[in-house]
Amino acid sequence: MTVRPIRYLGDPVLRQPAKRVRQVDDAIRRLIGDMIESMHAAQGVGLAAPQIGVPLRVVVLGIPDEEPFALVNPVIVRQSGTRRMEHEGCLSVPGYRGSLTRADRVVVRGLDEQGKERRIRAEGNLLAQALQHEVDHVNGVLYVDRLDSRDDLVKLDGTDWATAQPVQEPAALAQQETQSAAADGVAR
Ligand SMILES: [Zn+2]
Repeated sequence: MTVRPIRYLGDPVLRQPAKRVRQVDDAIRRLIGDMIESMHAAQGVGLAAPQIGVPLRVVVLGIPDEEPFALVNPVIVRQSGTRRMEHEGCLSVPGYRGSLTRADRVVVRGLDEQGKERRIRAEGNLLAQALQHEVDHVNGVLYVDRLDSRDDLVKLDGTDWATAQPVQEPAALAQQETQSAAADGVAR
């Protein structure tokens, strides 16, 4: 298994709706292995394939103290309630956290790494939040799109919450990220 580099805001692969997986085969299982490895290396609790540059509908979840698992072609089939998420982050938007409203309870359907259908139910916890975040990713949506106001996004200065300050609006952030990626000459 290989740790693959994370793609950042401004990379078009994060914005295109990912493609459905037709068959869960060894190539998909290798991808899942790499994704779990990459998620752990980056200390994330979830990762979607577009975040490592692969435009397929595959996500992995790695909630602390729980066995990591994958969902292929995940779909939210039911959601209810609302919950305010404080300080949500994303490996593809390093250095920022945002507060946003998500559903409190979700049921997500998808295939496991053997191609067998699974239904995951989660309510009021990190898994419920992470499932919504990762399903957003395969639809080309980032949490910064769901903020109500620019004040809901903070830039982290090191790891000190006391110095975290609201930043410019997300659209400007994306613009800035695109420009700096281009300026670096980095192909992401
Ligand atoms: Zn993310």
